[in-house]
Amino acid sequence: METILETIDPVNPEADVIRRAAEFIKNGDLVAFPTETVYGLGADALRPEASQKIYAAKGRPSDNPLIVHIAQIEDLYRIADPVPEEALLLAKRFWPGPLTMILHKKECVPKQTTGGLNTVAIRFPSHPVARELIRQSGCLIAAPSANTSGRPSPTCAEHVHRDLDGRIAMILDGGEVGLGLESTIIDLSVDRPAVLRPGFITAEMLKEVLGDVDGEKPFAETGHEDSHAPKAPGMKYTHYAPKAPMTLVRGEQEAVIRTIRQLAAKHREKGERIGILCSDETAGSYEDGLIKSIGSRAAEAEIAHNLYRVLREFDEQDLDAIYSEMFDTAGVGQAIMNRMLKAAGHRILDAD
Ligand code: AMP
Ligand code: MG
Repeated sequence: METILETIDPVNPEADVIRRAAEFIKNGDLVAFPTETVYGLGADALRPEASQKIYAAKGRPSDNPLIVHIAQIEDLYRIADPVPEEALLLAKRFWPGPLTMILHKKECVPKQTTGGLNTVAIRFPSHPVARELIRQSGCLIAAPSANTSGRPSPTCAEHVHRDLDGRIAMILDGGEVGLGLESTIIDLSVDRPAVLRPGFITAEMLKEVLGDVDGEKPFAETGHEDSHAPKAPGMKYTHYAPKAPMTLVRGEQEAVIRTIRQLAAKHREKGERIGILCSDETAGSYEDGLIKSIGSRAAEAEIAHNLYRVLREFDEQDLDAIYSEMFDTAGVGQAIMNRMLKAAGHRILDAD
């Protein structure tokens, strides 16, 4: 299949481009589009054949559920029952925006969209292109991140093109996304609301609205991912993994730098090339290896925005290993470390 690549104004999307993309969605075909979090791969959420095309294009396991995107709060009632008071409170406070809620699904939502579950994940994105596409198509749009399964989520159209060219009908290129990490997911289908995936809307922010929320455990408490049952089906799969094995190095900054420098020297002696993922503050302390800063430690949003791009840049080089510094786990830092731990397959080395 030939994939049409079309640029689109991310602030005031051109109506004719949206119309053409919406035709594909109405036809049951796939369109990749920018959202405020990462690029999504969209299809009509209420048509099983359309959803199934997403799984085929991404190589995504069929029991890994999709998020359904809506463009008005009332659409909650089309696909969820009941719609609890908590959902409306959160919608009023955080929608449109990077928050996904899990609710009990209505009959009309096919199991192909929910990975076989009786619940459905729902988000109202704020990106004008996403909103216009949903509105113009008249559909609700199932859209996971527009990457090949197991690769870092795409933060620009170029990443989507790399992964999915020839497998989908159209890519809308609205430039780089704003946030760069996937939405926060909160499960409201259970007695006690629980954060299943941390993101820009933090557990603290959710608590301000709901009072009680079971927050994602900070990475230090959770140990290896395999050691406990996945809370959400999709979580048992490795995500965001760069090609070269990645290890996070933990400890005081000085010790971390020393350890990574020693590792770099050892790899060099063996004739191997490594990548080093660090911050603006520490980048000057390394010599050997491909050194990449993901931003200043003082600017969490910048780090979140750059993480996936840098992981993909490492993938373009033939590296034998990647070593990374660790980052704060307060606020958005929790989401950043959650993704980094997944990318590293939970490999942590204590600096000495
Ligand atoms: P992605 O759109 O690729 O960022 O992934 C969507 C993720 O949302 C899945 O991998 C699941 O972890 C989660 N998810 C979607 N639907 C449900 C659901 N009904 N119950 C629990 N988790 C869900
Ligand atoms: Mg994804």
